[in-house]
Amino acid sequence: MNFAIAGAGFSGAILANELAKAGHKIKVFESRDHLAGNCYTERDSKSGIMIHKYGPHIFHTDNEEVWKYVNQITEFMPYVNRVKTTSQGRVFSLPINLLTINQYFNKTFNPIEAKEFIQSIAFNTIEDPKSFEEQALKFIGRELYEAFFRGYTIKQWGINPQALPASILKRLPVRFNYDDNYFNHKYQGMPKSGYTVIVETLLDHGNISVLLNTPFQSELVDEFDHVFYTGPIDAWFGYSEGMLGYRTLDFVREDHEGDYQGCAVMNYGDEEIPYTRITEHKYFSPWEQHDRTVIFKEYSRACEAQDIPYYPIRLINEKSLLRLYIEKAKREKKVSFLGRLGTYRYLDMDVTIAEALAASKESLVRIRNNQVIPPFFVDPL
Ligand code: UDP
Repeated sequence: MNFAIAGAGFSGAILANELAKAGHKIKVFESRDHLAGNCYTERDSKSGIMIHKYGPHIFHTDNEEVWKYVNQITEFMPYVNRVKTTSQGRVFSLPINLLTINQYFNKTFNPIEAKEFIQSIAFNTIEDPKSFEEQALKFIGRELYEAFFRGYTIKQWGINPQALPASILKRLPVRFNYDDNYFNHKYQGMPKSGYTVIVETLLDHGNISVLLNTPFQSELVDEFDHVFYTGPIDAWFGYSEGMLGYRTLDFVREDHEGDYQGCAVMNYGDEEIPYTRITEHKYFSPWEQHDRTVIFKEYSRACEAQDIPYYPIRLINEKSLLRLYIEKAKREKKVSFLGRLGTYRYLDMDVTIAEALAASKESLVRIRNNQVIPPFFVDPL
């Protein structure tokens, strides 16, 4: 069959690859001038450093199948994300762990003492935390919340943490030992040659043609047996119901000799510092040697029509808007929506990959059985 895939990020590339291997013909439409979406990496021509153009991407997963899948495509190097944060004029270890607690309160607590201490300052009366702020107060108390989360979150989301869902903070652990690995997952690593090569490899197949600088036009639907759309769901409908809210990021680059901050990621917890974090990209490839360094100051702001969407906001208003788009999408006969933008969800790379593999499998079964391919493979709500 003949399929169109809109978007050459992970979702589109995996789907294209799986369908092509099953003998179908695929045309991939990509509006940008490069592959790999926001995972795009390139070697900087000036410094030779591997740059994560749309912000740092660290691969981490508990999913064995996904880990095997990406390792078959490219070589992954051991990498552990260890993040620091600057707050109130001092540097601390993240995620909040025993070192952070001892540094912040100037103590030498052991794990049991630290736990007791945090319990004594936490808001235990909050039973079922609804907002980001309640979740933070319940787990770490006011001081740590204000030092590390309040300012950062206001900058990152442009919204008072009282209005944000608790789920955003649930991404981060609090530890009563000295483990400063930012993630809890079993597997973690960094692709030795960057992420772009993964997508290039997936799309390098005789049955796949790729058009860069070519947004998919909905008039083309009838030229294909089915369309898989990984762009923003509201854009597909010409924003007929209004625009779904996203945060976008601006990266301000600086070049320096030697070292700049001594680690890959330094967050800034204070609201007065306008950027959320500084990333020093040579530290994402610690197996390489570079005399110079490139850093990016990262600023978050509301995403406008011409900006690149990063983080879906998904508050109450956006969710009711999303519901309208889902209803419209379900009435489409020949289009499936998937991926971060197609389903308007805050997805990590491993989840995106797992979902794209599952969507490919389901599509192939449906094709074989002469059944309709569904508009969604997951429930976006
Ligand atoms: N966060 C924070 N301070 C930090 C790091 C994270 O307040 O130093 C909050 C912030 O609201 C962020 C959320 O925790 O959106 C989840 O953090 P994570 O590091 O998972 O964000 P991402 O990697 O998606 O940017």
